[in-house]
Amino acid sequence: MMKKQNITILGATGSIGQSTLDILRRHLDRFSVFALTAYSQVQKLADLCVQFSPKYAVIDGENNAEKLSLLLKSKACETQVLCSENALSFVATHPETDLVMAAIVGAAGFVSAFAAAECGKKILLANKETLVMGGELFMRAANTHHAAVLPVDSEHNAVFQTLPESVRCDMANGIFSGSLNEQIASILITASGGSFWQTPLDEFDKITPQMAVKHPKWSMGRKISVDSSTMMNKGLEVIEACRLFGLPAEKIEVAIHPQSIIHGMTRYTDGSILAQLGTPDMRIPIAHCLGLPERIVSGVAALDFFALDKLTFHRPDLQRFPCLRLAFDALKIGGVMPCILNAANEIAVAAFLDHQIRFTQIAQVIEKTMENVPNTVTDNVADLLQIDNNARIVADEMIQQFQAA
Ligand code: NAD
Ligand code: MG
Repeated sequence: MMKKQNITILGATGSIGQSTLDILRRHLDRFSVFALTAYSQVQKLADLCVQFSPKYAVIDGENNAEKLSLLLKSKACETQVLCSENALSFVATHPETDLVMAAIVGAAGFVSAFAAAECGKKILLANKETLVMGGELFMRAANTHHAAVLPVDSEHNAVFQTLPESVRCDMANGIFSGSLNEQIASILITASGGSFWQTPLDEFDKITPQMAVKHPKWSMGRKISVDSSTMMNKGLEVIEACRLFGLPAEKIEVAIHPQSIIHGMTRYTDGSILAQLGTPDMRIPIAHCLGLPERIVSGVAALDFFALDKLTFHRPDLQRFPCLRLAFDALKIGGVMPCILNAANEIAVAAFLDHQIRFTQIAQVIEKTMENVPNTVTDNVADLLQIDNNARIVADEMIQQFQAA
């Protein structure tokens, strides 16, 4: 009988965490849950612990940890509760962890994902901000320690599925050299365009958080839903693709594809294009990463081609979506500019969700932060975290200036 694989889910209470657990429920003969982590949703994490009996549960703060322990005790659940500063890295690098699902949102996910890479783990990477913030550092660590980095982000997972077999094997075995060969002319990632790709520009200032978190095709966490509506999500994904596949920006195409059926494609030099298609449901890329090299049931209903009217593609308009332009700029500038872009975006999105700034001011906060935080180069995690922190302080100042104006 096959040995069960132990999985640690960082960000278990989130949208990706929930989709992952939904798949695991169908495959309890293959996987056991080793650790689950959450930021503050005590009751939700307690319920998951009762269902999956992980060895560890990690939550932020001693108060939350105490509440969680009491809830677990009342249900006779033996999961151990951790809340120390290094608890996320502890479970991500634990010798009993075989797979790490990195599904924390934002830069908060960097340290634990990086620790897993340095430990040579198999990482199912949903947290794209890790690759934007310090992708070169992260991929170098993964390469040195033979950590497999499997893309969960649907577009990158789609591209991964359409790459040459030798590359897919190397990536799955943690021995990918970090660059694609000359057979590949380019890769293409699609975007739904979010809710506002056809909204008249003069209505952008009236966009509320409630409107922005409602995605037309995908059901996701609040931050990534806003990122999709500004198209910063696609900007982050272009940077993610560069780091993951070792490609220059010129070899990455972006197309708005409102039906969200084709998720990514690879163009080969002979003119062939391979595409991955599927219903927009994150359980498909997650199941692909979990099952590798096999295919496993994801619970997603079969795609009905006859119900599809048409598949269309449009060029993204950088004027309408300045966040996408800023991401391309950050990539071109290089150094730690993608880290600065990411930090400023997180602060700006949180301020927008908190009704402190308008939708159109998100890009302005990011642009001003990029102008005001000096760019540099670093191959050190502590420096990177410091730069991320500085960028957040500057972004906060920009928000205050906007509010005072
Ligand atoms: P979410 O907001 O639904 O969940 C985030 C998870 O991270 C939660 O479990 C939360 O408790 C945890 N968390 C938040 N802040 C934390 C902190 N400071 N410390 C520790 N844990 C913290 O987010 P999501 O939509 O599931 O997205 C997770 C990641 O996956 C993001 O990086 C996102 O870009 C990426 N992603 C998501 C989707 C999607 O469909 N949801 C698709 C592609 C990529
Ligand atoms: Mg995506």
